[in-house]
Amino acid sequence: MPLPLGHIAIGLAAYEMSTDRSAFSRWKLFMAIAVLANLPDIDVVFGLLLQWNGSAFHRGPTHSLLFAGAAGFLASEVAKRWDRLPRMGFWSCFTLILSHVIADGLFSASAVSFFWPLETYWSSGHSDLRDVVGMVLRGDRQDAWIALAACSVVIAHRAARGMGLRRKGTG
Ligand SMILES: [Zn+2]
Repeated sequence: MPLPLGHIAIGLAAYEMSTDRSAFSRWKLFMAIAVLANLPDIDVVFGLLLQWNGSAFHRGPTHSLLFAGAAGFLASEVAKRWDRLPRMGFWSCFTLILSHVIADGLFSASAVSFFWPLETYWSSGHSDLRDVVGMVLRGDRQDAWIALAACSVVIAHRAARGMGLRRKGTG
């Protein structure tokens, strides 16, 4: 399963693809992308707080299409009202949160609750605070490949966009 670093890489690529804006233009924007791309894993925090087990509620409701829609809407509304936050519309927030759910579904063996409440798949196993902190801080080989792929996508997208602009300029 992708770790936080992998989700950030996927989020950066998803943002650039969906908005045609550089995800690296402002540090606040970069931070907002990093938070939203990892938001579904807030269920790990709930598990730790309530049962001292980060896996207790993992991959349930927060790993769903419905959560991506609801949290995406809330995040875009908060960004609209609080001018210290970077401006991000609903589709950007939704895409970033959904990128996490899709990546978890694609790059790991266990299922996500994509159509919750129609289906719910809890993750199995046990993870305490030390396991969770370890996962947040380290990447793994899969994350390195994900970061490389995300980088290539961003570069290819920027190159294609550049060519498009040039063509528009000369034509
Ligand atoms: Zn996750």
